Amino acid sequence: MKVKVYVELKKEHFHKDAIDVLSDIADLVFEPLSDEEFKKIIAEASAAIIGLKRIDEEFLAKAPKLKIVARYGVGYDNIDVNACTKRGIYVTYTPDVLSDAVADLTFALILSLTRKICKADKYVRTEWAKGESDFPLGVDLKGKNIGIIGMGRIGYQVAKRAYAFGMNILYYSRTRKKDIEKELNAKFTSLDELLKNSDIVSIHVPLNEKTKGMIGERELSLMKKSAYLINTSRGAIIDQYALIKFLKEKRIEGAGLDVFEKEPIPLNDPLLQLDNVVLTPHIGSATIETRRAMAMSVAESVLSVLKGKVPKNLVPEQVTIFSRKENIN
Ligand code: NAD
Repeated sequence: MKVKVYVELKKEHFHKDAIDVLSDIADLVFEPLSDEEFKKIIAEASAAIIGLKRIDEEFLAKAPKLKIVARYGVGYDNIDVNACTKRGIYVTYTPDVLSDAVADLTFALILSLTRKICKADKYVRTEWAKGESDFPLGVDLKGKNIGIIGMGRIGYQVAKRAYAFGMNILYYSRTRKKDIEKELNAKFTSLDELLKNSDIVSIHVPLNEKTKGMIGERELSLMKKSAYLINTSRGAIIDQYALIKFLKEKRIEGAGLDVFEKEPIPLNDPLLQLDNVVLTPHIGSATIETRRAMAMSVAESVLSVLKGKVPKNLVPEQVTIFSRKENIN
């Protein structure tokens, strides 16, 4: 009999090639599911492919056969890794394959704000032909300072794009990256110096206890009035309440946000009333090519575990605990 794999996605959202990889040895059960169906599959599943669902003690207690939680993405703040490790459950993620897509979206948000693309589109549809108003000027990126918070996989791809646009790169990260400084003429600074000196601030740290609320009222007050804040990382890294206040009072120029404290962001959230923001629905990795690569990555991880091997792409906290070089495939 085939083993069961729970997939927290609709079938049409999980690439067919990845379904083919797993179907020989596993029955895949996709969302949407009723509460009853969900309980049943979780009780039987050997593997779970997870989007943004919370995987905590409560979930794991209902999933006694689980061998792997394969996160379909790179941020795993929704997964209690310690609770999984205690039970001998592998936790994997999909690093690298989505960095370009997220960096592209970061630049799409930057350009939407600096060249007022959303407003321009609306102006063409409603105003231009009337000849009654001029469209306001945007700003150049060349020669401007971009401050990258978190120079990891995605931060580096953003830095490469910024360099190609002729921007000066400042960065703040847990560790200094001298090779990137050399390659892209990037300067390592404190967080405060980065906030004071950047025309664009872009956030690329993971969400954890240290980064939650990292950008609050004090940090926003250090930013230039003309600066833009971009967040394609996790909503809770910014104090959204403080951000709304600063945007309303025009104490920063604008914000480009792909992620929010609560997702989907409620329709009555005050952020949606502001005209100096560009908002996208958590689509950092949402391209055809990247979603295929992510699906293939989780399929490989699940397949390895179902064949009794230690998977590639274990989250860093589990690497030394579970990795035995000879049987990583
Ligand atoms: P990464 O681990 O490669 O990079 C994170 C960087 O942040 C590292 O350089 C790390 O040293 C640094 N960092 C961690 N904690 C820090 C702290 N307290 N202070 C300063 N620097 C710190 O991760 P990545 O692959 O670049 O992904 C970054 C994040 O992007 C993910 O954790 C995820 O939350 C988010 N993400 C969002 C989307 C989306 O759809 N919008 C898609 C993918 C990833």
